[in-house]
Amino acid sequence: MKKSLPLFFSLFFAVLSGSLLFAFTVPGPAERKKAVGSLLHLTPELKAAFEANDDFQPLPKPGSFDWLSSHPETGQTYTQFLQSSPNRPGAGGRKFIYLQPIGEFPDDAPQMATLQKYMEAYFHPMEVKVAPAWNVEDLASVSSRGDQLNCTDLLDVLQARLPRDAYVVMGVTMQDLYPGSEWNFVFGMARIKKHCGVFSFARYGIKEDKKRALLRALKVISHETGHAFGIRHCTHFHCLMNGSNSLGETDRAPLHFCPACLRKIHWGLRFAPAERYQKLAGFLKANDFEKESEWFVKRAEKTK
Ligand SMILES: [Zn+2]
Ligand SMILES: [Zn+2]
Repeated sequence: MKKSLPLFFSLFFAVLSGSLLFAFTVPGPAERKKAVGSLLHLTPELKAAFEANDDFQPLPKPGSFDWLSSHPETGQTYTQFLQSSPNRPGAGGRKFIYLQPIGEFPDDAPQMATLQKYMEAYFHPMEVKVAPAWNVEDLASVSSRGDQLNCTDLLDVLQARLPRDAYVVMGVTMQDLYPGSEWNFVFGMARIKKHCGVFSFARYGIKEDKKRALLRALKVISHETGHAFGIRHCTHFHCLMNGSNSLGETDRAPLHFCPACLRKIHWGLRFAPAERYQKLAGFLKANDFEKESEWFVKRAEKTK
């Protein structure tokens, strides 16, 4: 198994591997239902939460530069998720999500307090802690190239300093990242089995559009934390857990989990669906994401 997974592959890689190798077939309604699994013995609230209705769109056919055109993924049904023996939060005392700021965060960058509030809503009822920021100058074992930091070295530090009670630690930085001399840059990397990941917001276009940059940060951090819960890329619905090859593809992805991915996260967290949807709607409204908030308000109503 590969030790580290680059978060996004370069466009160059997508062109090289191309759609010649793999033709993805968009799943139909029966396959999407199968991905969610039987709802027979669930409470009415959970049935309402996991029903694959019109609130959830099927995965659109991927364009030739999109993730699924170059990555032969078959997805993961709820049953397959259970068979993979995912780690439940709390097992072995690992019960917190940590955000680890690395280096400076200017005023227009996504702020830790905002990310923390969002993550607490998204992974409700888990507690999310913000660790004291690390100064880049103090990270002697982390090599650099100009303003770029070596993210493989950063992952080594995150892994070595992992708090005993951490379910996952997400390192976040405004400095650009590279994994080795053969790469120009990466948006981030994760070691899922080792409970850590590191992500840079340096290329999110903060100067051009601060709000869009924050939305990108929210999507990436919850997508990656979803992986930490054992959720693989979603190939059934248009979903936050869809793989992404570019910022454009991330922009097109919705902020929500599809019913199959929601059921997986619910296995780990046991939240009341309406409560979680309400929290998310509140966060999004408070942060001026009206359109996104409306979807969560509607879902909170339907899952009461
Ligand atoms: Zn992913
Ligand atoms: Zn999904």
